[in-house]
Amino acid sequence: MTPDEFKKQAHMFVEWMGDYLENIDTYPVKPDIAPGNIKGKLPGSCPEKAEGMDEIFEDFLKIILPGVTHWQHPSFQAYFPANSSYPSLLGEMLTAAMGLQCMMWDTSPAATELEEEVTNWMRDMTGLPPSWEGVIQDSASSATLVALLTAREKLTGYKCNETGLYGFRKMRVYCSSEAHSSIDKGVKIAGLGSENLVKIPVDENLAMIPELLEKAIRDDLDRGFMPLCTVGALGTTGTVAVDPIAETAEICNRYNIWFHIDAAYAGSALILPEYRHLLKGIEMADSFVFNPHKWLFTNFDCSLYFVKESGSLKNTFAITPEYLKTGSGERVNNYRDWGIQLGRRFRALKLWFVLRSNGLEGLQKKLREHIRIADVFRKMITESGMFELTAPPSFNVVCFRWTPPDFSEEDYNKLTEKLLSEINLSGKAFLSHTIVEGKFTIRMVAGQTNVSVEHIEKLYELITGTAKGLVSKKN
Ligand SMILES: *Cc1c(COP(=O)(O)O)cnc(C)c1O
Repeated sequence: MTPDEFKKQAHMFVEWMGDYLENIDTYPVKPDIAPGNIKGKLPGSCPEKAEGMDEIFEDFLKIILPGVTHWQHPSFQAYFPANSSYPSLLGEMLTAAMGLQCMMWDTSPAATELEEEVTNWMRDMTGLPPSWEGVIQDSASSATLVALLTAREKLTGYKCNETGLYGFRKMRVYCSSEAHSSIDKGVKIAGLGSENLVKIPVDENLAMIPELLEKAIRDDLDRGFMPLCTVGALGTTGTVAVDPIAETAEICNRYNIWFHIDAAYAGSALILPEYRHLLKGIEMADSFVFNPHKWLFTNFDCSLYFVKESGSLKNTFAITPEYLKTGSGERVNNYRDWGIQLGRRFRALKLWFVLRSNGLEGLQKKLREHIRIADVFRKMITESGMFELTAPPSFNVVCFRWTPPDFSEEDYNKLTEKLLSEINLSGKAFLSHTIVEGKFTIRMVAGQTNVSVEHIEKLYELITGTAKGLVSKKN
């Protein structure tokens, strides 16, 4: 491909991208497709001879596009969003064009320094302590693994990295029974053993009960185990429940346990002063992660990991550990020493674009609108007489189930599951589910960049219409 051909093609693609996003409402949110359907249309091996971009793009339109779930669709209310925005896309295009490797300062000084700058901005915007430092990771899963490994090394005097876990007493990790599966995964990868992850029961708000955390720690100490790390949730995935940060932090401090906070989704809301109280006690914690790639208009991947002090992090991951280095001391950050990857994408650029083109004020306005939209939906659900909320109101997420009159408790799970499946099959909206205290629960997340009250009203009509149809079929 020549430079001129590239420019011509790129212009066409930008046109297509603009049209796609402008008209994304017209696509079914989720494809109705059977496993193997897409692969069956692909040739099974790399073409021997070069093919033209026109031909490749045509296949993208014909084969790939009909098989994708449209994550930027304003009627995508499933899971958590991976929302994006025009400024973020523009930043990502430049990142792709430059193709930088951001492993250390020398491999691209501006990338390193911008990463330091924007993570400091975000630290201050979210109300984290001003002495904390940040780094951009690929995902919250990686950040939580990094926290576990750092905790492990700090507790063992950086010996575990040398000798492995052999000879150490069992190290124990604590999280609530509602915590994200990335903690289970992290515990496995860190070599700690999944039987050493202790799930602490939750209260009626689905938040961890601090007294039971302390009891578990004491029991473990009595048995000669080493309490290592507690992962607190600031917004669980099921219902966006928030663990009591200050009380948990205090317990962790008392027993010298690393306290990591997983705020993957709800952390974005901390840019709103009205949510700041949730961070009370944060100065007693050790690390914190949240994903601008979920609810801050920055396309995947962009996960911000903050630490109270970066020394133990670098001592864990540097190949030449900080404590073995001599001489002048480094004046720059080499982010390869702040996590697992050596090669790293230039993720700071898109975030910088997003932050500057919205300003703090613009971002706050958008998040408050999402929270308002969820409140509108919650009110409709509550007043319908057909549904019931299954979890307390939380941020921009509504958890509910279908409880039609003339049916009983035993029927509700099956009915709600059937309702959800019908809604998703329609292609008009996409919602996902969780189980809350045995209740099959539909989750509605109003976090899409361009979701509006109109979308939510249409969603409500779809849900009630589908429910009524199901009941009349049954009768
Ligand atoms: C989404 C989520 C994660 C995982 O995030 P990734 O960036 O996909 O690894 C972890 N914890 C919570 C609470 C989440 O909601």
